[in-house]
Amino acid sequence: MLRFTELFTNTDARPASRSAGAVAGTTAEAPRSARSSRRGVGKAVVASVLAGAFLVGGQPLLAGAAEGDTPENFVEVQEGAGSVLPAFYDNPARGLTSLVNETKAEADRLAAEEAAAAEAAARPDFVKPAEGTFTSGFGGRWGTTHYGVDIANVIGTPVVAATEGTVINAGPATGFGQWVRVQAPDGTITVYGHVESFTAAVGQKVAAGDQIATIGNRGQSTGPHLHFEVQVGGQKIDPQPWLAERGITLQ
Ligand SMILES: [Zn+2]
Repeated sequence: MLRFTELFTNTDARPASRSAGAVAGTTAEAPRSARSSRRGVGKAVVASVLAGAFLVGGQPLLAGAAEGDTPENFVEVQEGAGSVLPAFYDNPARGLTSLVNETKAEADRLAAEEAAAAEAAARPDFVKPAEGTFTSGFGGRWGTTHYGVDIANVIGTPVVAATEGTVINAGPATGFGQWVRVQAPDGTITVYGHVESFTAAVGQKVAAGDQIATIGNRGQSTGPHLHFEVQVGGQKIDPQPWLAERGITLQ
């Protein structure tokens, strides 16, 4: 059978040999210098692990390495090998375990990325800006015009972006104490007023549902609540039908 060390010695000396053929491609193309050959071996082993090619010459590669090779074999390889994969040469079993673990970690990372992408795709395009009690609608109120809707809740309640977009204001604002404004890709601006604190920064990209602030009682406010506005084409419109068209009810 092919012994584990042959994999290394042959890649330096005889790239076209049967053992190199077992991990064809990377080893055969690797330059002859010791350093480059070592890289080739590393790639070949990684490729074998990735492909599930644990069998070499009909025997498990790991078992062959562990039981068949004398320390002298590894010393011989190490003379030209340097320190790129010292742990691997010193203890091939541990080296392979490490490679397998790295491969698993990479697979786990890719799976996590896919899960995050799926979660992002499943997120709604529009979200109720805060949980709470609807206390005031858009229109005439107290001899003036109320240009938004009010949602009352305790100070510190999360305020989230109703749409995706870019934060264009986050800070002090006359009447609102503090506000955050988010501009959606279609130009629609949503306004979040009286906030106790803001957790978004100007220029930040947010997704619908991302927390941007907390409910407060700042500015011209008679109790802790979120004042929420929607501006389309520069006009402040009634947020309720706008939200209702997007599947969100406030009361
Ligand atoms: Zn209001």
